[in-house]
Amino acid sequence: MDLQKLNKERKYIGDITAKDDGKKAAIVGWLYDIRDLGKLRFLVIRDISGEIQVTGIKAETDTKVFEAMGKVTRESAVVVYGTIKKSDKASGGREILPSSFEVLGLAEQPLPIDTSDFSKTELPKRLDYRFLDLHRRKTQAIFKIQNTLLQSYREFMAKERAIEAIFPAVIGSSSEGGTELFPVKYFEKKAFLSQSCQLYKQMLACSIEKVFAVFTVWRAEKHNTIRHLNEARQFDYEQAFADEFVVMEVLGRVVQFMIKKVIEDNSKDLELLGVKLKVPGVKYLTFAETAVIMKKNKVHVGADDLSGESEKKLDELYPDTIVFVHDWPLSGKPFYIMPKGKDSSCGFDAIYKGMEITSGGQRVHIPELLIERLKVKGLNPKDFEKYIDSFRYGAPPHAGWGLGLERLTMVILGLDNIREAVLFPRDRDRLTP
Ligand code: ATP
Ligand code: MG
Repeated sequence: MDLQKLNKERKYIGDITAKDDGKKAAIVGWLYDIRDLGKLRFLVIRDISGEIQVTGIKAETDTKVFEAMGKVTRESAVVVYGTIKKSDKASGGREILPSSFEVLGLAEQPLPIDTSDFSKTELPKRLDYRFLDLHRRKTQAIFKIQNTLLQSYREFMAKERAIEAIFPAVIGSSSEGGTELFPVKYFEKKAFLSQSCQLYKQMLACSIEKVFAVFTVWRAEKHNTIRHLNEARQFDYEQAFADEFVVMEVLGRVVQFMIKKVIEDNSKDLELLGVKLKVPGVKYLTFAETAVIMKKNKVHVGADDLSGESEKKLDELYPDTIVFVHDWPLSGKPFYIMPKGKDSSCGFDAIYKGMEITSGGQRVHIPELLIERLKVKGLNPKDFEKYIDSFRYGAPPHAGWGLGLERLTMVILGLDNIREAVLFPRDRDRLTP
């Protein structure tokens, strides 16, 4: 097979329209369905853009081609040359009458997982065979939508004059305290996989004003929940000359922008997943106000953290709304969050569709205060010397946030497990594929 020639001639199935009726075309894809009626052979071929039926007619189709169509197995990779024809019977309204048919990658049988649209295979097994699970339209739809989130995040941030940064994945010491880290051997030194780009993005905001990143974080927590991974991706943002309200406003707009893009660009994918998505509104509540609302509704809230139950309640009370819970109790936020009065802070969480999607806030940019805050949190300022020093030479007030990519994908698509929203999840038990 001349793959260079094929790439010049190949047509995406999704691009085939009435204009192509009667014309010759080359298509490639995987064999989704086979129906062999003896004198008629129907094969449904699927590529990333769509699917089409290839119809073999014993009395008309080239004998070799007809024979080859009878030998192929489901999920095999094939290339078909043929004539496009309008058809009332074929789903999609068109079919291809093949003049050549070639198998480029035969799929062994039986398949290890059910690859149909309504796969009965359980998630762990599907993840074991993720490469094959990705033949499924529903799985593809999730990652096409995630692709739109990634692209539109960058598009939005570029318009905001934010600069994209790539941060180190290996760090010499804990950046935040609190969360558990994965140790790595780094020559003679001890190092860790980064749990956040917090300190780096702050240093950047204090020089290039607005910075954003799509950053991978590693957290060694031994949780095993439907909303936590041990390796996750975050949309990070940090802005100079800003407080938490400035960056909450940016967060509201970027999430609205991304969701609008998904609605526009992924309508077919949303339909396939049975998701009706709306561009969300925004609502601002203080932590104290939220606690009062929860008390009225007899829902438990912690002294310095919301409960999962209260996050769900917020969605019930304010559907299709990003709820910014701000003025968060100081004790519930990390050392780098700016205090507000004695017990409150400039920290916030954003809750959307019943789950935390973002944490953020104004940061401490005053070295003396930072030292004090570190001590209060039981951390040693000596371990953070370089970080503290970075605020000694013209550091403006600044604020930012981290928005979980998989978390966002999960909530907007109503997935019941965050692992559905990662190509290759890393969790307590899973390190392959
Ligand atoms: P949670 O309270 O849900 O455990 P967190 O407060 O520990 O999250 P942050 O450090 O605030 O998380 O991280 C910012 C965002 O990154 C979260 O709001 C969430 O969207 C996402 N995130 C955090 N931890 C994880 C994880 N373990 N797996 C997947 N996404 C995560
Ligand atoms: Mg948080």
